[in-house]
Amino acid sequence: MTEVDVLIAGAGPVGLSLAIELGQRGIRCLAVERNDRVGYSPRAKTTNVRTREHLRRWGIADTLRQASPIPPDYPPNVVFATRMNGPALSRFENAFNGSRVRNDLYSEEAQWVPQYTLEEVLRAEAVSLPGVEVAFDTELRAIEPAEDGVTAEVAHMPSGTVRRVRSQYLVGADGGRSFVRQFLGIGMAGQSGVAKNYSIIFRAPDLAARHPHGPAIMYWMVNADVPGLLGPMDEHGLWFFMATKLANDVDPATVDPVELVRRGTGLEDLAVEVIHADPWVAHSLIADAYSKGRIFLAGDACHLHPPFGGFGMNMGIGDAVDLGWKLAARLQGWGGAGLLGSYETERRPVHERTIRESVVNYATVGNQLVRPTLEEPGPAGDATRREVGELIQSSKGREFYTLGLVLGARYDNSPVLVPDGTQPPPEHFANYVPSACPGSLAPHAWLADGSSLYDHFGPGLTLLATDGAAGRGGIDALAQDAERRGIPLKLLVLDEPGLQGRYQARFALIRPDQYVAWRGDQLPAPGPLLERVTGHA
Ligand SMILES: Cc1cc2nc3c(=O)[nH]c(=O)nc-3n(C[C@H](O)[C@H](O)[C@H](O)COP(=O)(O)OP(=O)(O)OC[C@H]3O[C@@H](n4cnc5c(N)ncnc54)[C@H](O)[C@@H]3O)c2cc1C
Repeated sequence: MTEVDVLIAGAGPVGLSLAIELGQRGIRCLAVERNDRVGYSPRAKTTNVRTREHLRRWGIADTLRQASPIPPDYPPNVVFATRMNGPALSRFENAFNGSRVRNDLYSEEAQWVPQYTLEEVLRAEAVSLPGVEVAFDTELRAIEPAEDGVTAEVAHMPSGTVRRVRSQYLVGADGGRSFVRQFLGIGMAGQSGVAKNYSIIFRAPDLAARHPHGPAIMYWMVNADVPGLLGPMDEHGLWFFMATKLANDVDPATVDPVELVRRGTGLEDLAVEVIHADPWVAHSLIADAYSKGRIFLAGDACHLHPPFGGFGMNMGIGDAVDLGWKLAARLQGWGGAGLLGSYETERRPVHERTIRESVVNYATVGNQLVRPTLEEPGPAGDATRREVGELIQSSKGREFYTLGLVLGARYDNSPVLVPDGTQPPPEHFANYVPSACPGSLAPHAWLADGSSLYDHFGPGLTLLATDGAAGRGGIDALAQDAERRGIPLKLLVLDEPGLQGRYQARFALIRPDQYVAWRGDQLPAPGPLLERVTGHA
């Protein structure tokens, strides 16, 4: 019998992130993955600002920057054109906030990097941690839940050897067809089978030199023939092409991927070597519940939506962070019974909001932007192209400028936060207005010495004092109470210009995931505050 604290089903980006969040906190975990390696499906390319902030906290943000087959200074432009050899219609710059310019709002810019590269960086970090094992070729096959733990059977597929694993908790990070979710009998609500799409990874070393649109991370092809989008996967001619919303009567098995790339790009003689072709269906679904007893769901196992806006993996990594520190706190004894219940209360509204946004984005893709005269030469075509260009500017920007969603994700109704009676800024997909209203991501700041405020937060709770040494007595009382309860608490007393204004308070209690749990000008009695934010109240 193998004994671990947490068994994780699936070593995709979410399972691996959870293994890191747990492993860095000293929690023993085993992640089982039925594939023989990471990165089977080359899907996500957008690692967003918030995910990269988690990577920074884990100490691997620079590793990913260097590991990417696309250089970090590659311009994050998005181009709309009829075809690669046709006229441009519109363009967006600094998409996803991927430009390498220092921004007060965040500590890391987004990165355009294949999901398989991110997964490899996550894997390498996870297995470097004492107490973390990632077992490939290994499938979770049976689950026996009990009051005091979970027993599972995992099979090493090449040898047929079955291992019994005893854990305190089990997390299903096992993707859209989650075995764990099905075992729990949890349904998914929403719309399945929204539309069929076809993703192709191909090598075409000539392509970059055969178009006039300049470097970009995405080129949207707006034509009636094969509407879709494409973009680079490395600097040496590896590309993805995604044909969007195939007609219902098209059987992807009968579609020639080379033909699709050539017609979509307009480059009829382009030399194309297909590496991977993957028809997939967009869904818009959310699980009816995220846990039962000691078993939890995270990532695609509990939410699925069209990948327009680049949210799925990033949001799943956010799940792993929220669940990870809470599981660790519970296992280490300082997290109370209510802490794990707050996982769904906090994450579900974030998922619902993001799913709504991705559905809006998917509603208008090349298929909807095309017009009969779009590719006609001359004034009539020019007028159509201008009109479509304006439509693209007004309808598609919200897919590429999403800080309000990414950094503005809020945990308003969480039972482990202490509201202060103030209202957070209104929600907007693009405009992110930093706020230290409890339930918000702690406002970021660059400090006078050039470091990020986030780099100074501790791995547990952090009491941030924004006005230098003021209120010393109360701080000491809080520290002593935390120590008595075994709660890791770092005191961070800063005297930085503008910080108090940014937090609108002399004190803020920051959680391990950099969210504000409480703020105020006076420290309250420590007991009730600590009990509330650790789920003991
Ligand atoms: C075309 C496309 C583009 C996308 N682009 C983006 C993007 O730019 N940004 C973004 O954030 N998201 C994007 N996504 C979504 C993203 O790929 C997923 O949200 C992400 O992979 C989910 O991660 P996960 O770890 O939850 O699940 P998965 O990546 O599906 O990983 C689950 C793992 O569990 C394993 N597994 C399943 N069952 C078992 C079992 N019983 N035992 C052991 N192992 C098991 C599987 O083999 C798999 O490796 C895109 C998706 C698509 C289709």
